[in-house]
Amino acid sequence: MWKGSVGANDSACVGEGGQSLSPGKRSPTRTPAPGALPFAGRRAALLGQIQLDVMTNNSPAEPQIAVIGAGIVGIACASYLQRDGHRVAVLDPLPPGEACSFGNAGAISTGSCVPMAGPGLWSQIPGWLVDPLGPLSLRWSYLPHALPWLLRCLRAGRPDKVEAQSKAMHALFARAWDAYQPLIKSAGAADMLRRNGYVYVYESEEAYAKEAGAWRLRRARGLPMEELGADEIRQIEPSLAPIFKRGVLLSDAGHCINPQRLVQVLAEHFLRNGGEIRRARVTDLSTGATGVTLSTEAGTFTVPRAVIAAGAWSHQLAAKLGCKIPLETERGYHATLKNPGVAPRLPVMSGEGKFLATPMEMGLRVAGTAEFAGLDAPPDYARARALVTRAKRMFPQLCDTEMSVWMGHRPCLPDTLPVIGAAPGAPNVYFAFGHGHLGLTGGAATGQLIADLVAGRQPPIDLAPYRADRF
Ligand SMILES: Cc1cc2nc3c(=O)[nH]c(=O)nc-3n(C[C@H](O)[C@H](O)[C@H](O)COP(=O)(O)OP(=O)(O)OC[C@H]3O[C@@H](n4cnc5c(N)ncnc54)[C@H](O)[C@@H]3O)c2cc1C
Repeated sequence: MWKGSVGANDSACVGEGGQSLSPGKRSPTRTPAPGALPFAGRRAALLGQIQLDVMTNNSPAEPQIAVIGAGIVGIACASYLQRDGHRVAVLDPLPPGEACSFGNAGAISTGSCVPMAGPGLWSQIPGWLVDPLGPLSLRWSYLPHALPWLLRCLRAGRPDKVEAQSKAMHALFARAWDAYQPLIKSAGAADMLRRNGYVYVYESEEAYAKEAGAWRLRRARGLPMEELGADEIRQIEPSLAPIFKRGVLLSDAGHCINPQRLVQVLAEHFLRNGGEIRRARVTDLSTGATGVTLSTEAGTFTVPRAVIAAGAWSHQLAAKLGCKIPLETERGYHATLKNPGVAPRLPVMSGEGKFLATPMEMGLRVAGTAEFAGLDAPPDYARARALVTRAKRMFPQLCDTEMSVWMGHRPCLPDTLPVIGAAPGAPNVYFAFGHGHLGLTGGAATGQLIADLVAGRQPPIDLAPYRADRF
């Protein structure tokens, strides 16, 4: 039975402005007092932002599907399942869009088809690791934990595997615009996604040459792209420093002007249409003849079907079903500059620095870096400030007087592909996680695919590369 009142006794913290982030930990400033909940049908405005603290439509009907996780992937799954006529409940200790989906770089990167372990990567790693401003960092105390994943990633970099991963990435991420359209149109959020391209820039021919293999992969997938010289780069983005010699415009990519608000707007629409969102952390789940039983601090519920879309924490839930998934978190950082003094039209990706500077409604967001330090270690905001230092080289007029910093946990699998499909041995549980650097891009397409599977429809792409038992 799906019953019992739901409290918010397991809120978690969210991290813009120096807070750490993980389900189960409490934020000093952004989490409402537990005594304020439960309250049905109300929303609290907190720090001037709409926060969905609540979240039931008081529907007497019991949900047919529970979605665990209210990030972009969970909310997109819930939205697509609802469009198919299912009664859906989302469970999360956090309000929608408060974990990794809060602070990403906003790129809708339809052209992403280069796996993490793809060509050109390994030769650059030693240089990145010794550069304190570099795009990669590893906390050495975490190495023993991360090593098996890193070795799997290394093995995933074999040329034949890279080609297959690249094709599977392309099949999924190229669907992004079509998959988002129905969701943003019906939620009245069509203006939140901008399909006007993004541009890679390199300071040296040498840096560009190091990535020749990656660009070969992109060309092999037939992406629309335009090679740029120094003058053309300046024409496209006059605010850029005149230091870039090479660029490539990926014209079919684009960006979201506020990734957190996108999740919130979709969640509000889901609620308005009869969906339910419960502030509860799932601590256990099991399957049986009556369906999927979910334990939370607020009670135990049984639903016919469940979707695990819990981002970087998903493997913990999959393990409860006996399914071992090598999910690791690559922590990333952003700095959002409120009055940046520059207004690039497009997101700009630094080829050397591997960070993206994206124009957003909150200002200019500079985001990137990959840090291996696990789910529990406190953030190292020096990494966010390092992004600003690098961004000042990119935009000499950049003003950083007002900025906020953030860290989020990317959910990463060693072959770069997410897990999408039925759980092995538990066909009424579906997995939708592991989108790594590309969860915003792949969120809506994943929701569509999960809805197809639940409905028994033939998915439009081959889902074999995303199976959970591939490891
Ligand atoms: C710096 C940075 C830049 C990025 N830039 C981009 C970009 O430009 N483009 C792009 O496409 N992607 C980007 N990404 C990646 C993208 O943000 C992630 O892939 C995406 O947000 C993952 O979404 P998710 O819904 O899977 O996870 P999350 O947003 O992390 O949501 C997971 C939710 O599950 C909940 N949860 C966890 N455990 C439980 C439990 N036991 N019970 C109930 N709920 C639970 C959590 O509280 C959380 O709300 C970036 C990431 C970072 C860090």
